[in-house]
Amino acid sequence: ALSKHFTLGGGGLFRRPGETLRAVDGVDLRIMEGETLGLVGESGCGKSTLGRLLIRLIEASDGQVLFDGADITGLPPAKLRSLRRAMQIIFQDPYGALNPRMAVEDIVMEPMVIHGAKPDAAARQRVAAMLELVGLPRQAALRFPHEFSGGQRQRIGIARALVLRPRFIVCDEAVSALDVSVQAQIVNLLQDLQREMGLTYLFIAHDLSVVRHISDRVAVMYLGRVVEIAPKAAIYDAPMHPYTRALIAAVPAPHPAGRAARRAARLRVEGEMPSALNLPPGCRFHTRCPHAMAVCRSVSPPLREYAPGHSTACHLHDPQHRPAATEEFAA
Ligand code: SF4
Ligand code: MG
Repeated sequence: ALSKHFTLGGGGLFRRPGETLRAVDGVDLRIMEGETLGLVGESGCGKSTLGRLLIRLIEASDGQVLFDGADITGLPPAKLRSLRRAMQIIFQDPYGALNPRMAVEDIVMEPMVIHGAKPDAAARQRVAAMLELVGLPRQAALRFPHEFSGGQRQRIGIARALVLRPRFIVCDEAVSALDVSVQAQIVNLLQDLQREMGLTYLFIAHDLSVVRHISDRVAVMYLGRVVEIAPKAAIYDAPMHPYTRALIAAVPAPHPAGRAARRAARLRVEGEMPSALNLPPGCRFHTRCPHAMAVCRSVSPPLREYAPGHSTACHLHDPQHRPAATEEFAA
C-alpha cells in the first residue's frame, strides 16, 4: 500500500509545525499495460500526489511501486534515469510547463539532451517528426510558446513528453485548462497516440465527462484513499460507493451552456472535505455520507472486490455490516 505523508514545516497560517499531511495514505492500485485508468476526486484528495509517486517524481513515505514487476521505489539515481525515459507526465498548464525563453525545438529536444543525445540534425529531425505527430507544423520548431494557443501549447507539451518514446504517461488535468472544443481535440490526439505508440495512461481529472470518454477503468479517490475502482461502465452506471454516487449525480448534462455553468455544476457533495491533516477515524467519508452507520465512525472499510473487477471501500456492501434498510444499495 502506497503512502505519501508530508511533514509540514512551521510558518503556515493554519498548520502547526511537525503536523503530518496524509496526501496519499495506503493506496493499492494496478494499472494494466495499454489501458487508460481515469483517476477522479475533489481537489486535495491526493490524485496528483499519487500520479507523481507512481513515476517517482516524489518519493513514497511507505509502500512500493512496481513497474514491469520490478520494484522501482528504492532505485539509485543512475537507474532512475533510464526509468525516466519510460514514464512521463503531462501537466495541466501547458504555458506554465513550457520555458517561455526556449524555442519549441529546444523545449521538445530537452528530454533527449538530458538523456545524452546530441542536439544535432538527427535530433532536430526527431523533433520535427514529433511535432507532426501531435498535429503541429514543422515550422513550429523555431517559434516560442507565447506564439501558440492553449491547445497548441498542450500539443507541444505532449510532443515533449513523448519524444523519448515512453510507455507510461501521467496526464495530470492535461485538458482541464482548455476550452471544451479544444479539450476534445487533445483527448482524441491522446487516444490516437495511445494506439500508435502502445501507451498506458493514468488520466487524472476532476471532469467526469472527459474521464468517461477516455478511460477503460476509473478509480475514485477520497482523502488519500481509493474508495472505488471498476471498469468505466460500472462506475458510471452502477457506482457502489456513496461518494462516487454523489460525484456521478453531480455530472451536468452533456453540453451545458458554458464554462461557468459547468464549473457550478461540477461538484455537489454535501459538506466540506475534511482536512488531510486531521483525518476522520473509521470511514473517511462518514462526516458527509448520508448512509453512515455506527460502524463507519470507528472501522475503516477495506477496498474489497464485490463484483468482477469492481472494488469499493464501504461497509454498506459488506454482508456483515449491511443493514436491511439499505438493501437498495446491493441492487
Ligand atoms: Fe458511508 Fe459508511 Fe460506506 Fe463510509 S463505509 S461510505 S460512511 S456507508
Ligand atoms: Mg491536482
